[in-house]
Amino acid sequence: MPEPLTSGSEALFARARAVTPGGVNSPVRAFNAVGGTPRFIREATGPWLTDVDGNTYVDLICSWGPMLLGHAHPAVVEAVQRAVTRGTSYGTPTEGEVALVEAIVARTPVERLRLVSSGTEATMSAIRLARGFTGRDVVVKFAGCYHGHVDSLLAAAGSGLTTFSIPGTPGVPASSTELTLVLPYNDRAAVAAAFAEHGDRIACLITEAAPGNMGVVPPAPGFNAFLAETCRAHGALFISDEVMTGFRVSEAGQWGTDGAVEGWVPDLMTFGKVMGGGFPAAAFGGRADVMHHLAPEGPVYQAGTLSGNPIATAAGLATLEAADEAVYARIGVVADALRAGVAESFTAAGLPHVIQSTGSMFSVFFTEQPVTDFAEAQQTDVAAYGALFHAMLDQGVHLPPSAFEAWFVSSSHDDRAVQQVLDALPAAAAAAAK
Ligand code: PLP
Repeated sequence: MPEPLTSGSEALFARARAVTPGGVNSPVRAFNAVGGTPRFIREATGPWLTDVDGNTYVDLICSWGPMLLGHAHPAVVEAVQRAVTRGTSYGTPTEGEVALVEAIVARTPVERLRLVSSGTEATMSAIRLARGFTGRDVVVKFAGCYHGHVDSLLAAAGSGLTTFSIPGTPGVPASSTELTLVLPYNDRAAVAAAFAEHGDRIACLITEAAPGNMGVVPPAPGFNAFLAETCRAHGALFISDEVMTGFRVSEAGQWGTDGAVEGWVPDLMTFGKVMGGGFPAAAFGGRADVMHHLAPEGPVYQAGTLSGNPIATAAGLATLEAADEAVYARIGVVADALRAGVAESFTAAGLPHVIQSTGSMFSVFFTEQPVTDFAEAQQTDVAAYGALFHAMLDQGVHLPPSAFEAWFVSSSHDDRAVQQVLDALPAAAAAAAK
């Protein structure tokens, strides 16, 4: 297959590297995990990305989750255009903020919600609030779960043992992570042991509602309910991070598929991505008595110059309002078609693989067995993924440039876009099998 011309992207990448570390404003964009030159995108519409060299790609990144409706959705564009002519930020309350918060409260079990500008801010603030509310210090998280670049949550995984963690990056002092307990995902015994030993010091347990940042590793049936119950029994708060899954896995996110069915509710939840419609908007919320501790009602400080920004709230509200049953049905159909295509071509190429999903979010591991935690996820063949990635890119399909990311689809992925992916898969699977 002829490789697409990339001279424009290469020139921009060189220019970018001269002024920005790695040439990118978020590390995964640099293609370090797969090699090669990141495509500099000029514009996007529906499921299509167009780069500065004029190449088009079916987008299976969807901005790492937000673009549930696809790019430049007419309802979102119109809402943004209307909002932007009325000024871009006031630093005073607006009706748009109230409407977006009401829309989220209507779809989820949260009773009170505070808007922020990124998922990182949402989880950082939720943890501060949990500590302020409980008067305790220890935070429990799972290896392989990403909650943004909050210092205390950038803790390396222990070796499958219960360990107070060491920082996962230079720049985070040990004192920032020494109160973070990192446990293996899906491991009830490890959770029970951690709470038995440290229960009276644990302020909260934070988990991705269904992890998508080590590839998709769904919770075992009842695991989230077990976490909620364990936290309750020990007076700790259960924080469900739905930044990635919220309003994507279902109208009520991952919770809509487990908590709503099983009858439990997280104490706090975090949201981002879809609720911002492609703009910087995120949120944290939950029990009214806990949220009551937040300034100005309570003593726990949290604030933001651009929190509840009018353009972002307009885009987010337009996205949630457009996300009807037909949208969720379509992304389900698209995901099913792609999963079936992956399974068929990988099997034909003799590639061992496991496809793991929660709702329409899925990822592919080059393993023999299903993956249940981070240690197992790391067994995947990253070189094979790199070969797959580039063979797909050369055929006009932009997968996430890392083996440990979810593949995202949108309701704008029409039959032509799906077919382009299906047509590209056999040759890419053969390249990965080499
Ligand atoms: N939480 C989860 C589950 C995420 O997937 C992410 C980002 O990918 C974050 C938090 C951080 O969000 P942001 O990148 O908006 O800071």
